[in-house]
Amino acid sequence: LFAYAPAPESPAAAGEIATGYGHFIGGEFVDSSGSEALKTVNPATEQVLAEFAQGTEEDVDRAVRAARRAFADWSALPGSERAKYLFRIARIVQERSRELAVLESIDNGKPIRETRDVDLPLVAAHFFYYAGWADKLDYAGYGPNPRPLGVAAQVIPWNFPLLMLAWKIAPALATGNTVVLKPAETTPLTALRFAEICRQAGLPKGVVNIVTGDGRTGAALTSHPDVNKVAFTGSTPVGRAIAKQLAGTRTKLSLELGGKAANIVFDDAPLDQAVEGIVNGIFFNQGHVCCAGSRLLVQESVQDELLDALKRRMGTLRVGDPLDKNTDVGAINSAAQLARITELAEAGEREGAERWAPDCELPGAGYWFRPTLFTGVSQAHRIAREEIFGPVLSVLTFRTPAEAVEKANNTPYGLSAGIWTEKGSRILWMANRLRAGVVWANTFNKFDPTSPFGGYKESGYGREGGRHGLEPYLNVEALDV
Ligand code: NAD
Repeated sequence: LFAYAPAPESPAAAGEIATGYGHFIGGEFVDSSGSEALKTVNPATEQVLAEFAQGTEEDVDRAVRAARRAFADWSALPGSERAKYLFRIARIVQERSRELAVLESIDNGKPIRETRDVDLPLVAAHFFYYAGWADKLDYAGYGPNPRPLGVAAQVIPWNFPLLMLAWKIAPALATGNTVVLKPAETTPLTALRFAEICRQAGLPKGVVNIVTGDGRTGAALTSHPDVNKVAFTGSTPVGRAIAKQLAGTRTKLSLELGGKAANIVFDDAPLDQAVEGIVNGIFFNQGHVCCAGSRLLVQESVQDELLDALKRRMGTLRVGDPLDKNTDVGAINSAAQLARITELAEAGEREGAERWAPDCELPGAGYWFRPTLFTGVSQAHRIAREEIFGPVLSVLTFRTPAEAVEKANNTPYGLSAGIWTEKGSRILWMANRLRAGVVWANTFNKFDPTSPFGGYKESGYGREGGRHGLEPYLNVEALDV
């Protein structure tokens, strides 16, 4: 993940950024019906990148109507025809991946090495993968008549803007649905650039619509009476509010919410490899990762050795300019997120945990937080219970595998977990007992379009990725003749 690469990228490589954006509705870039505009800033410099429209209820309604009009023709296309559009989108994403990676890095703050080597290849991979399903649905175990639901309302967060878009749009389109997607208010730019890609790919008008704005626009979209499906990725409180809003309606809902994953290291683990996995687990993407390994559970007998090695490794992380290819940890996405991370870290100190961070210099402007480690953490501490969504690792210890399971599961969340051990039988024993939608063994944060991703408990329901990622977008009919 953190391989060496020379020479910084230039912001100009992101292509032309307009000073102001409207929505993408019915295949056209259109003005909002309202006059309110929001600003998106580069979190590494605090410079305003662009203004964009705060979508009104009227804008949302216009987008839903465009998606509804497009649905009849789109859903009637043979799967092989829909696949052609998805393959075309995947190829254009590959061709424009440098531009998209730079744009993502300046809008989000994440290191260019990650957008270039992780986000963009995965975006293309998801479109390729679901393109492959479009003409195979009848044979995917859904019986003879899998039917699309209709119009899908999709709301996504800011931590992987384009990748979350791909997770949502690719399976929806492959199954014959049309979509209205709302990107997060701090990272709208790559979704708007993706709208251009839809045009470039010749996608029929109205199949993909992008409406920008904050939570008010999101709420207008998820509560619109003419959407058949809501797919939401974001925080647990907002997910819960949407579930309440939709109770009693016939709108299908899938939720991908927060997490507080345990990364569990046994004394027989290859410690160097485990250190890399821990660093990747919590400092990748500044820890703005729903499945981040934010609780390190280390077996007591190797605690000292592991923490020494981990601190040494943390001391080598370079925090700074997201466009510098040598950067390991970029900028925190927003002032609000920085305030939340800071508040939780201070709570950790107040509650008696011991705080440590390498002594690295941070840039002047922008939003930054040092990779931080807390030891002496108890399960009652807020930093052990609440999702921090930043580069902060809380260390707890255990003696036996049973204690590790008990502590790992002692969270309202259940999205992911990591196990580090040489013993295959222990991996299986643990995996069977961990209440997490994804369990990684001797690896972490490994994503693949073929693999279903999603949570238990407060982490949500429904799966994205793999064959299971088709299900939230399908109705299955029985056919007797
Ligand atoms: P958030 O819930 O504040 O916002 C997410 C999106 O929802 C944004 O687009 C926002 O504008 C919109 N929104 C806000 N209020 C809304 C409302 N009332 N109705 C409809 N939409 C509304 O979350 P965030 O701070 O942007 O993202 C961080 C959270 O997302 C974390 O908790 C993280 O764990 C979670 N996340 C989960 C996954 C996953 O796959 N499980 C992936 C990425 C992020």
